[in-house]
Amino acid sequence: MEVCNGCSDIDGRPVDVQRQENLTLIGVAECNGTLVLEHYRCDTCRAVIARQFTGDINERIWSVIETAH
Ligand SMILES: [Zn+2]
Repeated sequence: MEVCNGCSDIDGRPVDVQRQENLTLIGVAECNGTLVLEHYRCDTCRAVIARQFTGDINERIWSVIETAH
């Protein structure tokens, strides 16, 4: 897994941590008007990162879901 320091740092952090620089919002998912998650692409390492706003406290985190090859 090849991710930059910014991505490895934010992986697993709570969603209330503000997004780092060099992330581009590429998509959002809503359910009944409630924001469920956001997807970002890292401009540095091209990883895709999800920011999940719903679920249990340990699910409401940033997570690297896909890495560039
Ligand atoms: Zn990155």
